Amino acid sequence: MPNSGAIAISATTQLAAVIGDPIRHSLSPVIHNAGFAACGVDAVYVALPVPDGEVRAAVAALRSFGWLGFSVTMPHKQSVIEFCDELTESARRLQSVNCLYWHGDTLVGDSTDGRGYVQGLHADLGIDVAGLRCVLVGAGGAAGAVAFELAAAGATDVCVINRTEAKAVAVAQLAGDVGRTGSPEDLGAADLVINATPLGMGATDVEHDVPFDVSALADHAVVSDLIYHPATTPLLAQAQARGLRSQNGLAMLVHQAVAQFEHWTAKSAPIEAMQEAARSALVAKGQG
Ligand code: NAP
Repeated sequence: MPNSGAIAISATTQLAAVIGDPIRHSLSPVIHNAGFAACGVDAVYVALPVPDGEVRAAVAALRSFGWLGFSVTMPHKQSVIEFCDELTESARRLQSVNCLYWHGDTLVGDSTDGRGYVQGLHADLGIDVAGLRCVLVGAGGAAGAVAFELAAAGATDVCVINRTEAKAVAVAQLAGDVGRTGSPEDLGAADLVINATPLGMGATDVEHDVPFDVSALADHAVVSDLIYHPATTPLLAQAQARGLRSQNGLAMLVHQAVAQFEHWTAKSAPIEAMQEAARSALVAKGQG
């Protein structure tokens, strides 16, 4: 008998999940179930709270019971690596996995965040990063994924600014020959400036929650914030007030899921349905 929603669960329905802890805030079930429904994929995606130390058991269940795959979030992005049969190039370089999928009988770990960022930038603003001078502010896990992918996609300069210099060095190395560390003086020459710090998340204080000085940017600079709650961060409000092109982190969130969906289903992801589901869920939570 069909469920009340769009997904009719039957004896053939496959399972996918996001594993992490905490996990109840995750938008991934909304995004992926919208994708499955729009494409007629007979699968359901749930959020599994998997505490630190239990990732081995979670992956064993995935292997034993034929799950379609997992999304992987904190605190398991590193610890899951030892349970993969293979890693993609990005997962190996970043030493971080956010997706497990099957390639035949091989369980592969991938990192789709960086690709999600680059594809989301193109989808939102039509921007191809090839040939661009980029500045990344922040040097955590998200910055590393973005730095690696900016370089892979042909950016000519990936300059990393961070309050802890050693972490800036590590992220700059992920961009290979085009990676370097920098200072706020580099902002003026940038084509694309990306906030990869949490500054401005859930913020209401336009003056104090900005990660860098927007007035230092060139008139043609594009400002990108990895944060998607609020939809317009103080940084983005300042960029828009200056007439600069800008985007928030929703496209990255959706497009990292798009890459995972395509690993699991071998179908083109229904991007608009996934994006609309994410946007509606944020609005329903009062975060849109
Ligand atoms: P993370 O690993 O904790 O790294 C945070 C970075 O921000 C660190 O480099 C840290 O500097 C810096 N930072 C933190 N507080 C700061 C402050 N008050 N002043 C200056 N720098 C500060 O976090 P992450 O996982 O990379 O995430 C970074 C941001 O990206 C978050 O806002 C997250 O929500 C967002 N994100 C978005 C997506 C998406 O799909 N849109 C995906 C992943 C992450 P230190 O190195 O000095 O500590």
